[in-house]
Amino acid sequence: MMKLDILTLFPEMFHGVFESSILKKAKDKGAFEYNLIDFRTYTTNKHNKVDDYPYGGGAGMVLTPQPIFDAVEDLQKQRESEPRVVLLCPQGEPYTQQKAEELAEEDHLIMICGHYEGYDERIRTELATDEISIGDYVLTGGELGAMVVTDSVIRLLPEVLGNEESAERDSFSTPWLEHPQYTRPQDFRGHQVPDVLLSGNHQKIDDWREYESMKRTYERRPDLIDESRLTEREKKLLNQIKIELGVERD
Ligand code: SAM
Repeated sequence: MMKLDILTLFPEMFHGVFESSILKKAKDKGAFEYNLIDFRTYTTNKHNKVDDYPYGGGAGMVLTPQPIFDAVEDLQKQRESEPRVVLLCPQGEPYTQQKAEELAEEDHLIMICGHYEGYDERIRTELATDEISIGDYVLTGGELGAMVVTDSVIRLLPEVLGNEESAERDSFSTPWLEHPQYTRPQDFRGHQVPDVLLSGNHQKIDDWREYESMKRTYERRPDLIDESRLTEREKKLLNQIKIELGVERD
């Protein structure tokens, strides 16, 4: 069972996420357990403060190292483990599905949610094993980032997703974005489901899905395609797609 410890000044923000939908089911099934730790409870400051003015001056407050170091060390002792310590921060490594797959292999993760102007640098250099950014924008705190990371990791744990929801063919788990999906009705306001999906011919359906996946990736995220790593079949298909889109001549 994966153990997830989240250090935050706002534990109440997580309840909706962990107590609903697939994450709740995963927790009830015993795929993971979580622990929300308000690191203010670890401060030795007599006014209960966890932040202070930056040395050198400047705007904003900086999280002090003491409460966060003490909380992490206490958790390591309690769990008797050497966890990955993930610092949420906009300057971190951009988060990807590959990183989610890597973290899903761990037994124990500690996530640290920053606030204010960020962390004292020693939290970054002496405590964190990973620094993750969920995108090139700045949030008020690390909580939303921790929710994004934990959600994407937990859905990869064994037996969390049923067969119908399998993550294997998801976008970013394969080199291609997922193909378009349709469900009932066959005709929605005059817009039809492609005939091939109604044909019952599984080979044709697979071929259509492969082609549409590649086309979608080429149109939306060409940066994901490494043409030097394509199979001969993929090269041919990609060429066909470029012809269809008028990028290349027949
Ligand atoms: N002054 C910091 C900077 O310029 O890098 C930004 C601090 S931000 C207002 C406060 C906290 O929100 C950060 O310490 C981090 O935990 C979280 N945060 C903000 N943007 C984030 C992002 N893109 N990814 C992950 N965490 C983020």
